[in-house]
Amino acid sequence: MSSSIRLGRLFGIEIGVNWSLVFVFALIAWTLATELLPFEVSHQPALAYWVAGAAGAVVFYGCLLAHELAHALVAIRYGVKVAGITLWLFGGVSKLDGEPKSAGAEALIAGVGPLTSLAVAAVMFVLSLLPLPLLVSGVLAWLVFVNIALALFNLVPAFPLDGGRLLSSWFWWRSGSRQRGVHSAVRISRVFAYLMIAFGVFELFTGQVLNGIWIAFVGWFLLSAGTQEEVGTAVRGLLRSVPVSAAMTSPVVTVPDWLTVAQFIESIAPDHPFTTYPVHDPSGQLTGIVRLGDLVRVRGAGADERLKDRARPIADVPTSRPDEDLAAMIQRVGTGLDQRVLIFDGGKLVGIVSPVDVARVLAVRQAQSTGVPPPAPARGQV
Ligand SMILES: [Zn+2]
Repeated sequence: MSSSIRLGRLFGIEIGVNWSLVFVFALIAWTLATELLPFEVSHQPALAYWVAGAAGAVVFYGCLLAHELAHALVAIRYGVKVAGITLWLFGGVSKLDGEPKSAGAEALIAGVGPLTSLAVAAVMFVLSLLPLPLLVSGVLAWLVFVNIALALFNLVPAFPLDGGRLLSSWFWWRSGSRQRGVHSAVRISRVFAYLMIAFGVFELFTGQVLNGIWIAFVGWFLLSAGTQEEVGTAVRGLLRSVPVSAAMTSPVVTVPDWLTVAQFIESIAPDHPFTTYPVHDPSGQLTGIVRLGDLVRVRGAGADERLKDRARPIADVPTSRPDEDLAAMIQRVGTGLDQRVLIFDGGKLVGIVSPVDVARVLAVRQAQSTGVPPPAPARGQV
């Protein structure tokens, strides 16, 4: 989940919102202004309903942010780096770099979110008792309701919800292994996801079409998130304490960036087994990377183009060190299929890591951990 719009920083944490949120904001303001508020407080001017509806939606996102900030601040307190908070369609996501060191820390990081939402609900409830204009009290009453709903929904024991993490930390604490904890929690998580999908389909047949689609969609989302969580944990477990140097392809062939695409494809690419080449300018400075796949597509019309016009700028290419933990590197840069990471040692380019390299290390580690010998490397292959 990437942030499309940056909002700024709070307590040193980057806050952003995703575009999907704009629609939900409009939906909330619209529902408040045209249905909920007129039902609770009648005979007000239309403009007043809309202003109250929009204000309610803004405060609602403030409540979501408080929930996520609580996760993030407790995570930082337990030594987990926080890459940022993104608000989107399903609420908020705190992006944590790394995993908590203990089951107790994981439980606190997860549990503080719903607790914060309940505390916010309590504050809103106290405020709603004050002698305020009727529309303001109406919005406050709605905020009490949604914050309680937010806390309860997040306590559903399914990934990536807080309930799923609480469950996994409990299994972790019981078994002493984070990986086993996640595995057990994902199994329970799946049951809840299937129940939700089944309930959504049931609603569809009883005529609650929109509700049904929405609930089934959330169920499907939970189902795929559970699988992702399990795969991610297994991968991180296998790659822990494997250095980047074990995966990198080295040495690296760099290519002058003033060559044309045709020159490169005819005279350089056939002599090497690589699919990605860093390019450098006449002074030897790296300027970017070119990938064979990208160049093959431009052959013909663009064959006279210089590599530098086709290269991805060096600033966009993630980097690492040979001694960094491979699991940490993957968590930091992501696992996009077209991802390439340049490895520098003391300012000198010493290697490249591609997803294929990571997959190779992963296969070997998996074979080692299950006792099955790794497949023999194919012979006679250049
Ligand atoms: Zn949460």
